[in-house]
Amino acid sequence: MPTWIQRVLSAFFGAGSGGSGDDALWFYVKCRTCGEIIPVRVNPASDLVQEFEDAGDMVSGYSLHKEVMGRGGRPGRPCFRLLQLDADFDKGRQLLDVRVDGGEVVDQAAYASQQQESADAQPPE
Ligand SMILES: [Zn+2]
Repeated sequence: MPTWIQRVLSAFFGAGSGGSGDDALWFYVKCRTCGEIIPVRVNPASDLVQEFEDAGDMVSGYSLHKEVMGRGGRPGRPCFRLLQLDADFDKGRQLLDVRVDGGEVVDQAAYASQQQESADAQPPE
């Protein structure tokens, strides 16, 4: 890996600092087929791919692609659809755009409330 790339990675991602993992991003992806909300952990240091400007060496931003598999759907709605999460970031790693093939991105609150519903749906011991 060329030195300048290591410098860039270092600047943006703190590479070499031991990788605490505190930089993780979370997306919450809702499957359009069954409605299950799947948390997706993104490690910027390994999951973001550098995009370069046409001219060559300058990083213009980052892109992300993840395949997202749920845990088998929701109660009464078995589903094993594979979702495709794609996102674009600027060179400061600010999220610009996110798309899900087969679903949509929802917020953490929606995920939490679905977890609560699932818990409520369990029969009492
Ligand atoms: Zn599904």
